[in-house]
Amino acid sequence: MMKWLTTIVFLWGCSFSSAQAKPFVFACEPEWQALAQEIGGDQIRAVSATHGRQDPHFIRVKPSLMSQIKRADLLICSGADLEVGWLPLLLRNGNKTIQAGQPGHVLVSDYVTNIEIPQVLDRSLGDIHPDGNPHVHLDPQVILEIASIIKERLASIDPDHEKTYAANLKKFASKWRAATTRWESAKASLAGHSVVVQHKSFSYLLKFLGIDVLASIEEKPGIPPSARHLAEIVSIIKQNPPLAIIRTPFDTKASSNWVAKKTGVRLITLPYTVGGLPETTDLFKIYDQSIELLSN
Ligand SMILES: [Zn+2]
Repeated sequence: MMKWLTTIVFLWGCSFSSAQAKPFVFACEPEWQALAQEIGGDQIRAVSATHGRQDPHFIRVKPSLMSQIKRADLLICSGADLEVGWLPLLLRNGNKTIQAGQPGHVLVSDYVTNIEIPQVLDRSLGDIHPDGNPHVHLDPQVILEIASIIKERLASIDPDHEKTYAANLKKFASKWRAATTRWESAKASLAGHSVVVQHKSFSYLLKFLGIDVLASIEEKPGIPPSARHLAEIVSIIKQNPPLAIIRTPFDTKASSNWVAKKTGVRLITLPYTVGGLPETTDLFKIYDQSIELLSN
């Protein structure tokens, strides 16, 4: 009798402790951490490998990330080679459920159509967008699509809270759709204008708003400009003055500062992601602040 009782208590203890463990989401970028948190609420824990003032193309793999990824139940990254320099190393430390091909491995670019796929790919030229533009979170439709995928994956990891995840998704999607309509209305004043970009970080947002890219200060994604390229940009700007030169909080500043000084064109730092600017505290604010900064 005693032996039976011990076994029952032991089994109950096991199931109780697993029911108590919150799904642990390891995001590569703050936007996916924020989105997971919108859907998971208090039922999950989510971390991001990078913060809003870090270039997600290039980070150093710190031991703290190595230990975090070991505990991850779900991995969410932009993909399209954005994290090619560091994610493979981290994944070697992750468990089986988050490896490529497993349900716990979500690369957003696998679910969306990347723009700017190079017509001729020559990796020797150092293009860091070989699979198209990986900065996909700046397309509001992508956020909505990935929100549903995150809900599905969380529900399969933690079926006990499926209803909570579904309710959070419903609430988020309705708020996001309303915000998208608000952002679309900004097109009226912004569409048809052009900007000069430092790196092609904002292509999806610019496409959404109908803003053209007049020139890119980088010669190719990841390739710093030559003096000749900068002189060309100055001449292009003089012929066709753009709305602004835009950059992320983590872009190198010298070249864009120089071009702005030479041409008198306004230089704007957009938040790019959650935490990019001090006031960028959630996904909605990335879009709200960017549109406000471009419209002023
Ligand atoms: Zn990039």
